[in-house]
Parts: sequence; C-alpha cells; structure tokens
Amino acid sequence: MALSGLEIFKKLPKTNCKDCGFPTCLAFAMQLAAGKVELEKCPHVSDEAKESLAEASQPPILKVEIGSGEGVITLGEETVLFRHDRTFVNQNAFAVTINDDMPDEKIESMVGEINDIAYERVGMTLALDAVCIKNKSGDKAKFMAVIEKISSLSKKPMILVSTDTASLKEAAEKFKDKKPLIHGASKDNIDDILAICKDTGCPIVVKGSSVDEVMELTAKAREDGIKNMIIDIGSRKLKDDFYNQVILRSAAIKKQERSLGYPTIVFPDEMTDDPQMEALLATVFVAKYASVIVLSNADRQNIYPLLVYRQNIYTDPRRPMQVEEKIYEIGKPDENSPILITTNFSLTYFIISGEVETSKVDAWLLVMNVEGQSVLTAWAAGKFVPELIAQFIKKSGIQDKTSKKEIVIPGYVAQLQGELEDELGDGWKIIVGPREAGEVSKFLKEYAS
Ligand code: SF4
Repeated sequence: MALSGLEIFKKLPKTNCKDCGFPTCLAFAMQLAAGKVELEKCPHVSDEAKESLAEASQPPILKVEIGSGEGVITLGEETVLFRHDRTFVNQNAFAVTINDDMPDEKIESMVGEINDIAYERVGMTLALDAVCIKNKSGDKAKFMAVIEKISSLSKKPMILVSTDTASLKEAAEKFKDKKPLIHGASKDNIDDILAICKDTGCPIVVKGSSVDEVMELTAKAREDGIKNMIIDIGSRKLKDDFYNQVILRSAAIKKQERSLGYPTIVFPDEMTDDPQMEALLATVFVAKYASVIVLSNADRQNIYPLLVYRQNIYTDPRRPMQVEEKIYEIGKPDENSPILITTNFSLTYFIISGEVETSKVDAWLLVMNVEGQSVLTAWAAGKFVPELIAQFIKKSGIQDKTSKKEIVIPGYVAQLQGELEDELGDGWKIIVGPREAGEVSKFLKEYAS
C-alpha cells in the first residue's frame, strides 16, 4: 500500500521553507500522497527518505510503455477517477486484431488499413496505435511467421496473444528490440512469463479471472521486481468488464491499492460480432478506464468517431487547446491581401483558417493569444478588447509584410469597431466580418473582389 500523507510528512525535513511551492511540508505531503506532485519538487529530502518515499511519489497507476522507437506507446500514470477533477494523462491505445490463421492477402490489407489511418484534427494527428496478433492457429511456426510479416509491414507496436507459453517465449526473444506486449501471464504460467519478461524486458499482461486473482499475480510479479505490466481482468462481457474496470481504477486511486495500480486492457473484439456495437462498447472503455482497447477491424466509419471521442476525453480540461500567437499566411498573401484577426482557441483557428482556404482568397490571419479562449469568451473576460487588440496588431509585425491598413474582426464583436479604430489610429479601418465562421468563405470572396 502507498504511504499516507502523515507517513510521508514524518519523512520530510519539516522546515516549511516553501521551496516546493507549498506553504508547509504537511501540505506538500498530502499532495504527494494523492499523486498530484512529484517528490523532486522538494530539494531538501535526504537520500534515505528519498528511497523510502520513492513508492509514494509514483502515480497510483504506474507508467507502462509498449513498443520502441518512434511508435512507443505510454500508458497509465493516471491520478484521478474523473477527468474534470484534473485531467486524464496518457490516452488509451487502440489496437486492431489480426489472427495468424487469416490469409496472407487479408493480413496485408489489414496492416495497410491500420497504417494508413491518420486524421488531422485541431492540430493533432489521430491514428491507430498498435496491432494485436493472436495465435488463433495454435501453431507456433505460423504465429512467428505472421509476427515477422507484420513487423516488416508496420512500425506500430505489437501485442502478442497466445495461450502457448513456448510460442510467447520464442516471439519475445526474437522481437525483444520492438518491446511487444506479451499476453499473458495467468496462474498457470506466471513463473514462465515472468522469466520471459526478465530476460527480454518486454511488458506483460497479467490475466486473472477475479480481482483477488489479479492481485495475487501482480503481487508475485512485484516480488520478482517486475512492474512493467498491464491487467486483463478476463471478462468479455460489457457489464462485467465495466464493473471490473471501475473497481480496479477506484481501488488504485481511492484506496491506493498498489497491486491494482496498473493500466488495463479490454477486448471489445471478443464481446460482439457487430462492428458498430463493438465501437459503442469501445467508447465505454475509453471513458472507464481501459488503457488498451482491442478492436476487430480498422473500418474508418467505426474508427474515426472513436479517435475523435478519445481526443475529447483526453484533452486537459484546465487548458483550452491553443495555437501559437502569430501571423498565419493562408495561400500566398501579398500587399493587397485581406487581413483577418481571431483568437488562439484552436477550434476557432482551425475553423476560420479552413474557411479562408475554402474561399481560395490568399489572406493574412492574425491569431492573438487570449489563453485559448474563443472570441466571445475572451471579449467577456476582457482579453479581446480594443486596447489589447491594438497593442497586438502593432507589435505583430503585420505592417512589415503589408502596408494595408484594413483588418476584418469577427462579427460577434462588431461593437469593438469604433474604439479599435481609435486605438489603432494612423488611418486604420476596421471591417466587421460575419458572425458565423461558416460564412467567412463567402464574405471573403466578396470582400476581396
Ligand atoms: S521544500 Fe521540502 S522542506 Fe521545504 S516546505 Fe516543501 S516539503 Fe517542506
């Protein structure tokens, strides 16, 4: 079990020096116990105390990595039950299953689909994360050949699933540089799988049919010095798995039960034959609380909504998504091109820039830093007001790029027009653009003609 705040406090210097950013050592200890701050924030902890506090300073859900190189996936490190309490940290991975008894052409086309899925949305690339290779054939040679083929076709990390320990051992040894996730260790083979993990450094899945069984297996692994593991609670029904996911996460975070403080894996691909129902089941586990979600297909109509949903769940609610404050050139703007201004809320930026691109009118888009707020919110908060907008325009450097002194403001803040002209002076003219972003394209074509 993790240490309580008071137990941690006893090991701190108790000088209340505030160097950690907290008013007292006790306040720091409480935050450390809750996994909300790192031990390194206190520069005065003795080496002896550091050692004994190391466990307490780890997040309640330990970090686990799958894969190597560019494609490595980081899971876990979660500290809260609800996203709105703080934020979820490492987004879940989506893996797609390929069975080793599938025909070669099917395997190749599925790997191609998995590799090709990549959507740009609000400045981020949404993609599938891993390939789950299942030893459905029960044939070791076939399993090895399919792993070999897939690893030559894709850089995505691999999850290797087999009930045959000898097959897992051979695969882990041969592909250990790629650090595949090995599924899995059960009460029947735990010693052999732990030995594989020790020899190869590959992360493993610990599979138990109940919470108690999982606790026994993870405790055994920890005794062997292994922490790089993921839990499979073994259920393949929505009701059971949902219940188990909540129990595991609650026990790890609320009760600080270290033996359950690991990322989890779920298999919607084994829960239904209906791809759309499978995607719906997957949404449940994005929110609660799977770290790896295994799907049966890479069909875009199922994958895209899942990727967008995951992106929304895993954005930090404390920090609006922002783009950089600067002048964005859309197309090849010149002296005569329109100048527009908006805020640095990323959704606003991407919608407006998309509309400008659609208009085919080359333009300058000035994006002002208002801490990621939308236009109306920033105006209401006093951050997108004439005085500050004028200061930004003057220092933006737009006058080094064009001598045009006409700028389009969003229609929702039309009331700024007169005051902004006064603030800018020097012959600047303010044009009121449309209220709705969807009308920007039409407006620009007419304005620029
Ligand atoms: S920096 Fe360390 S010693 Fe100073 S108040 Fe924080 S916890 Fe206490």
